[in-house]
Amino acid sequence: MKKLLKQYFGYDEFRPLQEEIINHVLGQKDSFVLMPTGGGKSLCYQLPALKFPGLTLVISPLIALMKDQVDALQACGVKAEFINSTLTPAEINEICVRVKNYEIKILYVAPERFALKDFQEFLKTLNINLIAIDEAHCISEWGHDFRPDYRNLSLLKKLFPSVPLIALTATATQKVREDILNQLGLRSPRVFISSFNRKNLNLSVIEKKKAFPKLLGLINKYKNESAIIYCFSRKETEEIAENLKLNKINARAYHAGLETNERKLVQELFIKDKIDVIVATIAFGMGIDKPDVRLVAHYTYPKTLEGYYQEIGRAGRDGLPSECVMFYTYADTRKHEFFMNQMEDALRERAREKLSEMLNFAELMSCRKKYLLKYFGEEMKEDSCGACDFCLADKEMFDATTITKKILSALIRTENRFGKNYIV
Ligand code: ADP
Ligand code: ZN
Repeated sequence: MKKLLKQYFGYDEFRPLQEEIINHVLGQKDSFVLMPTGGGKSLCYQLPALKFPGLTLVISPLIALMKDQVDALQACGVKAEFINSTLTPAEINEICVRVKNYEIKILYVAPERFALKDFQEFLKTLNINLIAIDEAHCISEWGHDFRPDYRNLSLLKKLFPSVPLIALTATATQKVREDILNQLGLRSPRVFISSFNRKNLNLSVIEKKKAFPKLLGLINKYKNESAIIYCFSRKETEEIAENLKLNKINARAYHAGLETNERKLVQELFIKDKIDVIVATIAFGMGIDKPDVRLVAHYTYPKTLEGYYQEIGRAGRDGLPSECVMFYTYADTRKHEFFMNQMEDALRERAREKLSEMLNFAELMSCRKKYLLKYFGEEMKEDSCGACDFCLADKEMFDATTITKKILSALIRTENRFGKNYIV
């Protein structure tokens, strides 16, 4: 496998867990892989795919990314293709013919394609050796990114009982994990979980007051280095980018409202260090693999911890110290609520829960990393991470019993009618 790793991908060593996972997959057994973004999940099915005689099928929800993934594989000399709604029927037909002739090793398909009976029939005629389900959390309603089309994947085990499955995701709480295993019907799968503790990331939450000057200060601290600023809305990205430009920062806005070409261009300029700061909505980042992002800031706090973890995960891929700063004010909750109110009842409830977990994190009075890791089911052994605002703060301890009693007494005597500032 190491030879293939070098030959096709140019790497000398496996990353943690990759080798174990690949061996397990080659043994034709089911696996579940939970690894942070950038951990190297793709290789866990791409490399076995090269070794298997038949086809490897990859189900991926990210239509926009399929082409990039396939292009990258082709550039490495791997025979890969994708089928999704961006192709014409004639193009799809042509690919199916090549799949049929085993001229293709790895085929990426979108879940809605898999839902089609005809396509399932076609797949049944093939020698499929491995099925990979990328972004497997999309199958679960308990997750943060449920895709109804993923529900059809429960059929995989029924249609292909003898083909090993590998489910991969970067974010799954215990509940979602169990849901994935159940829904896919994995057979005594081995579960591979790599540590989510990104030790080189420094986490902090700061008060969103005089926010723009604070942001400017942060960005100037990383002059001529790469930063991503996540905003709540398209409008906000453009305003902030404009203001940064006025302050001589080489910044650009990025959001889903831009034309495809413009988006591509901005991404490319960022990757090539021609733009220092990307001011983006969460549309930015999927598939971005820039190693030297030194700062990720959330100008508005994100709506889920899963999203937060994924976004800060784009900092410091090269392992060097990097900073993640979240601007927090409770007032921003209204922005999230506005959107939640437009959701279906069932989803809204779930979204509320996620948001309140996010708020707990924002207002936390203990180690942020410990909390975050625990949320993803990982126990941090140390009491202090040494890399979050709580652990790094100079803390003065004193007995506040008397003063607390006085404050509470003031609250009661003023009949709970006043806000914090008045009471103070
Ligand atoms: P994930 O899907 O877990 O987010 P990817 O599979 O996209 O991560 O891998 C992230 C980056 O790490 C890619 O650029 C990939 O080529 C690189 N990578 C994967 N495995 C290795 C390895 N063994 N050695 C060096 N780089 C690797
Ligand atoms: Zn800490």
